[in-house]
Amino acid sequence: MNRILPLLMLLTAATDPAAPLLSPERIKADVRTLSADDFHGRGPTQAGEPITLDFLARRFADLKLQPLAEGGYRQRVPLLRWTRETAAFTLHLGATSVPLTPGVEIAASSRIVGTTALDRVPIVFVGYGVVEPSLGYDPYRGVDVRGKIVVALAGDPDVEAGRDLGFGGRASSPAARTKLAEAQKRGAAAFLTIHETFPASYPWLQIANGDAVPGYALDTGTIPAAFGVRGNIRNDIGIRLLRQGGLDYKAAKIAAQRADFHAVELTGATLDARVVTRLDHAESHNIVGILPGTDPAAGSILYGAHWDAYGENAFDPPADRIRNGAIDNGTGTATLLEIARAFTQAPRPRRTVVFALWTAEEKGLLGASWYADHPVLPLATTAAQFNLDPHVVLGRTRDLELIGVGRTPMEADLARVAAAQGLRIVPEENTEAGWYYRSDHYAFAQKGVPGVYFRAGRDLVEGGAAAGEAKRAAFNARCYHQTCDEYDARWDMTGAAQEGSVAYALGREVADGAAWPGWNASEPFAAERAKKAAARR
Ligand SMILES: [Zn+2]
Repeated sequence: MNRILPLLMLLTAATDPAAPLLSPERIKADVRTLSADDFHGRGPTQAGEPITLDFLARRFADLKLQPLAEGGYRQRVPLLRWTRETAAFTLHLGATSVPLTPGVEIAASSRIVGTTALDRVPIVFVGYGVVEPSLGYDPYRGVDVRGKIVVALAGDPDVEAGRDLGFGGRASSPAARTKLAEAQKRGAAAFLTIHETFPASYPWLQIANGDAVPGYALDTGTIPAAFGVRGNIRNDIGIRLLRQGGLDYKAAKIAAQRADFHAVELTGATLDARVVTRLDHAESHNIVGILPGTDPAAGSILYGAHWDAYGENAFDPPADRIRNGAIDNGTGTATLLEIARAFTQAPRPRRTVVFALWTAEEKGLLGASWYADHPVLPLATTAAQFNLDPHVVLGRTRDLELIGVGRTPMEADLARVAAAQGLRIVPEENTEAGWYYRSDHYAFAQKGVPGVYFRAGRDLVEGGAAAGEAKRAAFNARCYHQTCDEYDARWDMTGAAQEGSVAYALGREVADGAAWPGWNASEPFAAERAKKAAARR
């Protein structure tokens, strides 16, 4: 895959960035409100949802955005919720029994309602577990995993290969996201990933602390086929497990990079599991407001940000059970409010602008996916989408980080609009994280709606790239999705205001124009977009 950056991106701005069009202070004030303890961490379906929805709806009303026909600004999102009531695991390695404590050595749940019981079930190591026939990869070839436990490495075969074997090199590939489904298709009883920080892109702490968080899916009227135990085991446990089967972890990773790798049953290793799961119906809500354009036939643009965070959890330490989600995604939500404010204070755009605050992004892009299937205005004539989901609070930067490089000609427009604000665009650094697949814009990309997803870069005007990277790394290691993602009065929100200002200016250009942005021809989303080309005259 040849992804050449548009030439404009390589032109660096010589001067310091301009003051952002949006107000860092107003963004900060809203972040403070949204992440206060009385919002209970904005967990969808939890105690924090009503107060969050009321606040956001009030802000949309103050901006005189048009509500939906029914329900004010609320769009109901029906959900299924799986709650793990109890869990116990024991690994048997030869004659030794190793109890695995949930949330310590293992983080796993089951979506089978009632009791899932596995007794001394054999374990099969499938390498990366990625099946890609076009590249000749099928670790399951010749191996029967029915009723067995499948154990896989984190990432895809070339995440550490140092070159692109067809899965995008270090970058996370779409194929890597189908591992669980592959194991399920082949009748496995359980699927466990051996955690490793680099290919997983987050530390074990994050997975372990998320262990008892309920699982959600959209309630579309049918209950999806249940799969048993799935989750992660701590790296040292994985190494011991492979050793029992006669495999060296490092050597096994190298072997699993090859297309001819096939699965290995780990002799002498078995697992006991007992998990009790409850399923119920729940509902949450998106908040959607509309700024009608001057030409109703001209189509629309869409701004989105997820309002949800990780909520308040009884299993977190009693000292602080609220994961306030100040950065993720108090900042994106506050930035969207500020963009909406800028639009309502300027002359009305030609195209209609839809402002949406999504629920349950952290549960798998659920609010955005529901909207993508039940849009207020047709997606075929949604000219462009912008997603606000920053990753760390940064002061004034010289750059913006583009997630998902080489996908759309809009990237050249982004580079031009950013340059006008003294900012240069840099490609995402941590491609192994697969950020492109991990936020709400992806739900709309899959429906063909073009967009660029970007956020504040790391090159701080004060401190440079090293200081920006240090902040990012510190946040990732300790606070991302944890109770310490809390408001800090010392924050300088200029980075968020810069991101929002460019999103505003680029959106404004698309909303005032007549052009229909598209995808690069190599993108799978291009074919999806083409299906309804007739709607865009
Ligand atoms: Zn987020």
